[in-house]
Amino acid sequence: MSRITSVLIANRGEIACRVMRTARRLGLSTVAVYSDADADAMHVAMADRAVHIGPAPARESYLLGDRIIAAAKAAGADAIHPGYGFLSENAAFAEAVAAAGLVFIGPPASAIRAMGGKSEAKALMEQAGVPLVPGYHGADQDEALLAAEAARIGFPVLIKASAGGGGKGMKVAETAAEFPAALASAKREAKASFGDDRVLIEKYLARPRHVEIQVFADSQGDCVYLFERDCSIQRRHQKVVEEAPAPGMDPAIRARMGAAAVAAALAIGYVGAGTVEFLLDSDNSFYFMEMNTRLQVEHPVTEAITSQDLVEWQLRVAAGEPLPLTQEQLAINGHAIEVRLYAEDPAKGFLPQTGRLSHLRFPEAGPHVRVDTGVRAGDAISIHYDPMIAKLIVWDRDRASAVQRLRRALAETEIAGLNANVPFLSAIAAHPGFLAADLDTRFIERYGDDLLPPHAAPAADVLALASLGLVLSRREPANADPWGAVGGLALNLPAVDRLAWREPGEGGTTHPVEVEWQRDGFLLKQDGRSIKTSGQLDPADGILRATLEGTRVNARWVCQGREVNLFYAGGTYRLLLSDPHAGRDGEASGHGRLISPMPGKVIALLVTEGADVTKGQPIIVLEAMKMEHTLKAPADGKVTDLRYQVGDQVAEGVELVGFEAA
Ligand code: ADP
Repeated sequence: MSRITSVLIANRGEIACRVMRTARRLGLSTVAVYSDADADAMHVAMADRAVHIGPAPARESYLLGDRIIAAAKAAGADAIHPGYGFLSENAAFAEAVAAAGLVFIGPPASAIRAMGGKSEAKALMEQAGVPLVPGYHGADQDEALLAAEAARIGFPVLIKASAGGGGKGMKVAETAAEFPAALASAKREAKASFGDDRVLIEKYLARPRHVEIQVFADSQGDCVYLFERDCSIQRRHQKVVEEAPAPGMDPAIRARMGAAAVAAALAIGYVGAGTVEFLLDSDNSFYFMEMNTRLQVEHPVTEAITSQDLVEWQLRVAAGEPLPLTQEQLAINGHAIEVRLYAEDPAKGFLPQTGRLSHLRFPEAGPHVRVDTGVRAGDAISIHYDPMIAKLIVWDRDRASAVQRLRRALAETEIAGLNANVPFLSAIAAHPGFLAADLDTRFIERYGDDLLPPHAAPAADVLALASLGLVLSRREPANADPWGAVGGLALNLPAVDRLAWREPGEGGTTHPVEVEWQRDGFLLKQDGRSIKTSGQLDPADGILRATLEGTRVNARWVCQGREVNLFYAGGTYRLLLSDPHAGRDGEASGHGRLISPMPGKVIALLVTEGADVTKGQPIIVLEAMKMEHTLKAPADGKVTDLRYQVGDQVAEGVELVGFEAA
């Protein structure tokens, strides 16, 4: 790889760390770039050199191509890997890198441009004879024309941002009446995310699968495909579970899709790693959706079933070497599944969460388990970047065994400090529909009720373990007691502690627990029951070895401030310790009020001051983390006053409008 000796990664987080691992294995030196928010980030700590490129917002740092190129020059890097997101599909950046005499690890700018707009790409594919979803992808964006096209295609339709990606700027209109509002919303999101509000319209297919082909081309003109990935399990049109190969894939369809993808790549003079995305309908017909001219988030499942390192392929191809393997040398071995661990709240429409990861543990990596992450315990998930915490990838000989591995790996994943989607992913992994590979892009919609179980009070053993951990932790002199000394301990007398636990979130009920200190343990009184317990808590790693009514159990008990996280029997439980001096608890409850769930910008007010509203009626639209969130009336009532105007920035936790329930 003589042309490349040092590579700068124009990215952050898990992908920056992942690229560095391969670069280092190949003997290359690594250069990181970082914003103010990332000075202590894992990717900076991993790199041989790191260059500061600006403030936290991406448009002032990770999106500034000139600064990144200057950083590469200053650090002596001879190549730039863009990762995914940020500048990875920016043709002007690819050109500027080449013009600066550096190697861009990705396709030529012309190929990025050809596939850059979904509309242009579709026109190109249409010419090449690749089947498209019925729709409109013309340049004329007149609203009346778009509405007429939608009617011609037939409802429901999907409106997509031409410049789109990551499910942003994508809205379904079920009926003609919904079309104008859906169009306006898609255009707003597209403008905010991509600076370009052009859209295309497609027939919204009822139950398609998302199946994509990994292609790889070299500068000698050869191109292969590394089979397919099924990425049907999505929320907000964004992938959460990806697997390879696609379950039940007909080898003849695979070959046809592979050939279509290779033809698409060759048609645009492609070089490097790319993905051609298709919708696969239940009758096995498939339609081109778009081509992503970069490495995908889900590339590890392809690596797992082919035993190849795609970043190594990228580096070799960028250095001018031929593809490492021919099509005939590539074969599928076993089955791999990836899940994306996100800081988000599935119960609140997958609202992204921010905060500090006070505790973080992943399953041990090995031949069956791989963890790609860019964060460590103590790091923050901020409003500035994607809320992904890690990717968990499992591999085994067949799908059933891989699913079993996945369930185990999720059970061993511990995240505290913010709401993560681990229980939601565990519910998917255990769902009969998933086991039966009943996959299509509405999987989460269809099984949502099973995946988000109705709220249940914490089980007796969970309350008991949380309480036991607390009293044991207070025995440790190092553990300051947030609510004053534990009764009787100092005098060595038998004593009773009165604890009250509350479930986080709106409407969480309080669970009192009485702890009676005994010579050989504790007697817990909760919900009218007495439970005899004893145990030890290791303060270093939070391991709680307990005996509950004679049964030995192990759990991990992690406390931060007033919040206790219990990881037990494969589940994650969060409980808040109520302040016994503050009545119910000291925290302002959001119940019955319209509270900003995160810092953001007001982009639409849907009611006027004094309006009477009904429960569930949309009131205000916020944009946060590049997505729109519509806040709805918590009950029937009246909007007494509007406290912010369109365009205002709002902080987390502020009351957005005055509201009086009827
Ligand atoms: P993005 O580039 O924003 O990821 P895509 O065009 O790749 O957008 O589409 C994302 C997802 O949206 C697809 O994986 C699929 O689940 C869904 N989708 C896209 N087009 C259609 C369609 N015509 N009918 C039904 N679902 C679709």
